[in-house]
Amino acid sequence: MDGSTRTFTKSSKLDNVCYDIRGPVMDEAQRMEALGSKITKLNIGNPAPFGFAAPDEIVLDLIYNLRNSEGYSDSRGLFSARKAIMQYCQLKNIPNVGIDDIFTGNGASELITMSMQGLLDKGDEILVPSPDYPLWTAAITLAGGTAVHYLCDEQSDWYPDIEDMRGKVTPNTKGIVVINPNNPTGALYPREILEQIVGIAREHRLLLFADEIYDRLVMDGEKHVALASLAPDLMTVCFNGLSKSHRVAGYRCGWMCLAGDKRGAKDYIDGLNLLAKMRLCSNVPGQSIVQTALGGYQSADELLKPGGRIYEQREYIYSALNDIPGISVVKPKAAFYIFPKMDIEKFHIRSDTQFALDLLKKTKILITAGTGFNWVAPDHFRIVYLPDLETLHDAMASMKSFFAGYVQK
Ligand code: PLP
Repeated sequence: MDGSTRTFTKSSKLDNVCYDIRGPVMDEAQRMEALGSKITKLNIGNPAPFGFAAPDEIVLDLIYNLRNSEGYSDSRGLFSARKAIMQYCQLKNIPNVGIDDIFTGNGASELITMSMQGLLDKGDEILVPSPDYPLWTAAITLAGGTAVHYLCDEQSDWYPDIEDMRGKVTPNTKGIVVINPNNPTGALYPREILEQIVGIAREHRLLLFADEIYDRLVMDGEKHVALASLAPDLMTVCFNGLSKSHRVAGYRCGWMCLAGDKRGAKDYIDGLNLLAKMRLCSNVPGQSIVQTALGGYQSADELLKPGGRIYEQREYIYSALNDIPGISVVKPKAAFYIFPKMDIEKFHIRSDTQFALDLLKKTKILITAGTGFNWVAPDHFRIVYLPDLETLHDAMASMKSFFAGYVQK
């Protein structure tokens, strides 16, 4: 022993794994907070801190079930939870989901990572949207695969560009990830677009991964179409959970369902079961409320119609952003995100991370830069419009005066 300090570096598996939603700009916000600044957080899709309380019935049922939730459950989850999820699949025409095709997870996040760990080897490619919810790209990279991004087109309401997607399929492609409703754009894809995606998967015999965690947060009388409902002859791995619709992100309750024709995937499914067993089970108190959450009255509906908070906040943020010279934005149809575009020539923007830091330091508003969602240019950012109207109003006034004088150094 020579007394020198031994250094420990992170594993090379984490090279190129990014999750900027909680990245360096958020670190700076935390530093400013520690020094006493009040930060307006428009960066994380976490409803509870913004006064979106979970329904009382959910909390009461969780308390009621706590005693019976002390032990591990089956590694795939409680029977009652999985039965309720199975019935939810039936209502959404998601085909061929039996009780053993359902896995509960500590949020959908755990299962997204698991679904990629169980499938990918070096060289395998998965098609992922750009912009994406960055956990997908991170999970694919961590699993040793390659995320290949297909473009979503702002000119077409942020729908996936089907020709771009088709052009990116290679012999190494194993699957397509579809995030619908979408984070960060708030887009809701129509049936025709979904059918075209299924067509590509059918032609190239690909797996489909449908992240539909916002399917119960749709506005304007639109209806969400489950991707798997259009692909009974293919296998779709569907992801959903209660974090957003029931405002219980902290309870960590999500699920994954294997739908459609699974005959070719027996070995992959064995792998998923192995991974589920290795983590023993997902948290059982969270599972105990699934049945209550999915049945009957859906309190989220009230938030999404005219007069409801999410609806009214969307109306406001959409018009306030479009009112800022140099900013334009597509109206979101679902979830609680909006993805505005900046005129980078006008503001001389070369780095959107630098823009996010400049905005934070000047206005104490925290947003996430578009490249954090694997977007291709430094010309977008994401706002989470969960804070109440008064907070949004103040934030938009500050943002408007910020942009009026902004030229990136
Ligand atoms: N998928 C999408 C598109 C998301 O936006 C999120 C969270 O923001 C998740 C999955 C993960 O949700 P959870 O792990 O809370 O279920």
